[in-house]
Amino acid sequence: MDQSHLLTPAIPSRLPQVGTTVFTIMSGLASKHQAINLGQGFPDFSCDRDLISEVNAAMLADHNQYPPMTGIEELRNGVAQKIASLYGHHYDPETEITITAGGTQGIMTAILSCVGPSDEVVIIEPAYDSYRPSIDLAGGKTVAVSLITNRDEQGHVNSYSIPWDNLANAITLKTRLLIINTPHNPTGMTWETSDLDRLAKLLENTNALLLSDEVYEHMVFDGHTHQSIASHPALAARSFLISSFGKTYHVTGWKIGYVAAPSAMMKEFRKVHQFNVFTVNTPMQYGLAKYLQNADHYLSLSSFYQSKRDYFKSGLQNTAFKLLPAPATYFQCVNYSDLNIPQSKLSEADFCAWLTTKIGVAAIPVSAFYATPVQSGVIRFCFAKKEQTLSNALKRLQTL
Ligand code: GLN
Repeated sequence: MDQSHLLTPAIPSRLPQVGTTVFTIMSGLASKHQAINLGQGFPDFSCDRDLISEVNAAMLADHNQYPPMTGIEELRNGVAQKIASLYGHHYDPETEITITAGGTQGIMTAILSCVGPSDEVVIIEPAYDSYRPSIDLAGGKTVAVSLITNRDEQGHVNSYSIPWDNLANAITLKTRLLIINTPHNPTGMTWETSDLDRLAKLLENTNALLLSDEVYEHMVFDGHTHQSIASHPALAARSFLISSFGKTYHVTGWKIGYVAAPSAMMKEFRKVHQFNVFTVNTPMQYGLAKYLQNADHYLSLSSFYQSKRDYFKSGLQNTAFKLLPAPATYFQCVNYSDLNIPQSKLSEADFCAWLTTKIGVAAIPVSAFYATPVQSGVIRFCFAKKEQTLSNALKRLQTL
């Protein structure tokens, strides 16, 4: 019988280079091999029960229908106040702040709202893996510059710095958008005030907009403070600022965040937002609006994660892993090149697969943050875990 009417027409892929994200792959491998998952970045401990009670109360109070497209007023007001008190910039909650279904959606929507065919978008690698596909879908052209990799006497990568010269060359009149990420995933690197000044100079005579991914803004250690583009008026005037409640309140599965931008940019952002997500779930917004009123909930986060970092770091000091600086975020990068085992010669991806399946600890290869994988012997561990989880992982890592 002729079955040709049952054939699915071939789809030319919009994203031919893309497979499944490394975070999903490593979590899958970790669960298949019952490894301790220090790969994908998410906490393995509970969020505050008070936050859950606030969301429950909102549901019981019948906040269960569509909220306004831009997010509920109470939450937008809370975000505006938080940004004003921490960074001194007053975004108008009516026209300049939108609640999104997480940071990644905010990034995709911001890109779709301003990047068109053949517009150039500059990114800095290692870069979060959603940037490039989002630019591709918008029809833009990615111009990637790499962080400078600094090396120790043995030639092993031991830290990163901002590639100012390459950045200056990459930013031209064709640049529509530059994406930065501070604090940076995966390296934990942060942009300081002097860096923001220097960046503002680079952008001064261009039409380039800036997207600043600051989802780890409340995890900065050793007495340092986060420098937001919102604290820099010349940058704020051309920027989408992205943040995430999931990261800050240990609720990554709720998928809720926000974007702040000058009204002219936000107007375009909302045109796209309304036709891909339209609105973000209502009870979570009411719960978060209440919870956000207590600044301690985010101000205490740095010291909370600093103790986890210190605990993890001191355990790793008894191993041949070389620790890279971890000044912010909930990630610790290490170099495995000096381990006295044959596997120290493996690529980062193969090393992570081996570590997960044979040693029982999952990590993320930093090479996955580059379009053309750069092998630097560096992998990323997430320390947003219970002390017991970290201690179990350390026991396994200490056998190497
Ligand atoms: N941002 C998280 C990380 O870097 C993961 C997010 C995701 O899995 N898409 O691990």
